[in-house]
Amino acid sequence: MNENQKAIDVSIIGGGFSGLYLGILLKMKGINCEIFNSGTGASQFWVGTMDFLDYHHNKDLESSFNEFKKEIPHHPYGYLNFNQINRAFIEFSAQFPEFTFSIENDKITNKYVLTTLGNLKPCVGMWNTIFHEFEQLDNSSIVILVDFSEFNNDAMYLVAKNLKETFSCTYKILKLSLKKLFDYWEENENQTEIKGKLSEYKIANYFDTHSDKVIIFGDYIQKELKNQNSEINLDKITSILFPPILGLKAERKIINLLSKYLNIECRELVALSPSLMSKRFNNSISEKVKELEIPIHNNFTFIEFDKIDDQDTNWKLKLLNKDGKIINVRSRFIVFAVGTLFQEGPLAEVREFKELFEKNSISIPNKISSSFELLFNNDRKSNIFVCGSALFSFMKHLDGEDEIKYGTGLGLSIISGAQIAAQLEKIII
Ligand SMILES: Cc1cc2nc3c(=O)[nH]c(=O)nc-3n(C[C@H](O)[C@H](O)[C@H](O)COP(=O)(O)OP(=O)(O)OC[C@H]3O[C@@H](n4cnc5c(N)ncnc54)[C@H](O)[C@@H]3O)c2cc1C
Repeated sequence: MNENQKAIDVSIIGGGFSGLYLGILLKMKGINCEIFNSGTGASQFWVGTMDFLDYHHNKDLESSFNEFKKEIPHHPYGYLNFNQINRAFIEFSAQFPEFTFSIENDKITNKYVLTTLGNLKPCVGMWNTIFHEFEQLDNSSIVILVDFSEFNNDAMYLVAKNLKETFSCTYKILKLSLKKLFDYWEENENQTEIKGKLSEYKIANYFDTHSDKVIIFGDYIQKELKNQNSEINLDKITSILFPPILGLKAERKIINLLSKYLNIECRELVALSPSLMSKRFNNSISEKVKELEIPIHNNFTFIEFDKIDDQDTNWKLKLLNKDGKIINVRSRFIVFAVGTLFQEGPLAEVREFKELFEKNSISIPNKISSSFELLFNNDRKSNIFVCGSALFSFMKHLDGEDEIKYGTGLGLSIISGAQIAAQLEKIII
């Protein structure tokens, strides 16, 4: 990176899903931006759904959203209306067809997904391999829950128990062995045996590289369905549900081919542990960042910022790279997309965080404008925005607990990103 280059239009601090998605939106509008990221964030733990709001379940989403705004007016959603939210998700879904969104009467709505703990979680969208078709289940449905003996540790028994309490269908556990499956594949392919402990990444890579051999997997499932559940009529099986490990790139292909071959709908569950799901989304969002040639500087920690002069609100940023070198960058606009859980540098410590901003006449927590821009102490706009879950540590009357309590999740990243990109387009273009 050349320190003497001309000012960057927008510097995005933080390369989690909020920072990356905002970068994509800006670049698509013709706005130049660069991303500076120190390391890991909550995005690396994401489990596969697009959470927007978990509030007043008995109402349609728009009504519960409107009530939420009245009851919790200081929340970032307080600045938004449902049409803006709808538009933001539609724009996102056009970029990422890997997600399925729940839409009724042209409006997004909450649907439920099933976790590997067997409980249900509301979300507006989910990775497209995840099971959500509960409306298909009735008394006569038979659902097969696949328990890979080397991987699941009998988790599916818990899923079956919890599901029985909610949906009265028949649940059967199907015990499969990954080692056996890989042996079947190798017999037919003459490949070297998988070595060492089976991590979920190894398993997923193995599925990816064998996605053309799904028929062998299908035959193994059919054989074991007959062996383990001889009393079941295979034609009556509604769904086969797997833990989310069927690949990092080819999972969609595998699920589709398997469903077609077995003539039974196959899907994955939502994992409750840091999962391959975040890696899948991270791969696809990073690919888009690369395609759009958005510069991303990893291992760069934001440590300081100052006004270039008093009239202008151009900024001078200081970043620390992994070799301990301080890099100076000039930028017209800054967006903090630093999350809540993994803030680094001065942002990791409340006192330093506040002092750093106060030095530039910005109070933390901040009143923040309706387009998520920080305000100077004299209420003037600062050219500094906050995107995604970082809003919980910059905004007045909010804290990390509010983030968890109302289930806003990735939804806030998408919506605040859309709002900030629209505002920057108005100012810059
Ligand atoms: C276990 C878990 C599971 C989850 N599952 C879901 C789910 O299924 N659905 C859902 O909707 N939501 C889920 N969430 C919430 C969701 O993951 C977050 O809301 C979202 O990822 C936040 O993204 P972000 O980019 O705002 O923050 P982060 O992902 O935290 O990214 C912030 C980035 O900023 C960087 N950074 C921090 N300080 C600095 C600095 N000083 N300089 C430069 N860079 C810096 C960090 O290294 C990090 O990369 C989950 C969260 C957790 C913890």
